[in-house]
Amino acid sequence: MYKVTLIPGDGIGPEISEATKRVLEATGISFQWDIQNAGEDVYKEEGSPLPNRVIESIKKNKVAIKGPITTPVGTGFRSVNVALRQTLDLYCCLRPCKSYQGARTRYENIDLIIVRENTEDLYAGIEYQKNSSGAKSVIKLVEDTLGKKIREDSGISIKPISVYGTERIVRFAFEYARRNQRCKVTAVHKANIMKYSDGLFLEVSREVAKNYPDIEFEDRIIDNMCMQLVQKPELYDVIVLPNLYGDIVSDLVAGLIGGLGLAPGANLGDEFAVFEPTHGSAPKYKGLNKTNPMAMMLSGVMMLRHIGEVSTAERLDSVIAEVIKEGKSVTYDMKPVSDDPTAATTSDVADAIIARLR
Ligand code: NAD
Repeated sequence: MYKVTLIPGDGIGPEISEATKRVLEATGISFQWDIQNAGEDVYKEEGSPLPNRVIESIKKNKVAIKGPITTPVGTGFRSVNVALRQTLDLYCCLRPCKSYQGARTRYENIDLIIVRENTEDLYAGIEYQKNSSGAKSVIKLVEDTLGKKIREDSGISIKPISVYGTERIVRFAFEYARRNQRCKVTAVHKANIMKYSDGLFLEVSREVAKNYPDIEFEDRIIDNMCMQLVQKPELYDVIVLPNLYGDIVSDLVAGLIGGLGLAPGANLGDEFAVFEPTHGSAPKYKGLNKTNPMAMMLSGVMMLRHIGEVSTAERLDSVIAEVIKEGKSVTYDMKPVSDDPTAATTSDVADAIIARLR
């Protein structure tokens, strides 16, 4: 019996979480779910979108699976997802993206691993609001120390990238490559422009790479990387990126394999692991039983591997692959047109997978 924290999330989160929970239970592995709500409704009821009970539950169980949680745009509370990663020091966001036969996409045989740094960079949440005393101090400091002028009506976000944070994420990428018989690690940056943050990321990546002579290492500038991934994705293998580029490139790579409905992920630290799909809460589809639960189910496959249930993970992955290949019990996003009347519902997908697991 595995004790796992289950955070259903909001928007489409509860629907895809329920479908995922049913499928994981149907594998025959037994779970004791500690269901912990977080997000906007919890904020209204409990005064915090991420109450301490959620963190305590993950600390106790060490493993969690979560649905997406909405972050208000521009104003309102800060991202629960980012807070979870920072509080539990889940420094690595691992997002494997591989082609499934039958998925509608322009590409074949994609097999890429995104390793995104998860705690630093512009995602650190270090910001100064326009006209605040903090913003004024930073503007003055920049003028005094660099002689550069920032307009006084500016909002300011700070981009910290440390040696410590970079070393551990790049090491993770190389260790992952070694453990999984991968040949190459590509570090992505914009070191030509941001010499002290991305420049540091590149320099530390090169240093770490020296410890792994068995694995090829190269680097790419982020803009070039985006173009190369669209034109020649087969040239890449494990890709390690600072937080913001990792966020953007994860969605790009999801697009190569047929969309966000198929892109799973894991937030990993030395002590805790939180599995969640790459996609967000898609609020416009909330409650419609319409969206694709496979990205969350595939995050469940990653969780099964993590807890050591490797053969069950492989079995669930191949059953999901069969359902995709057959093309009958798949949601609207995997159909040629999004209003296809034959599209399956979220719960239909779970039923089809469960039927094959029996
Ligand atoms: P999104 O990923 O929620 O949705 C973008 C579009 O992708 C949707 O409109 C839909 O067309 C499609 N899509 C997403 N998931 C799908 C699925 N499972 N099946 C079928 N189609 C799917 O991105 P967004 O609209 O930019 O963000 C919505 C909210 O989610 C925001 O508040 C954002 O902050 C939040 N978010 C949360 C997480 C997380 O919880 N880790 C991640 C990303 C975004």
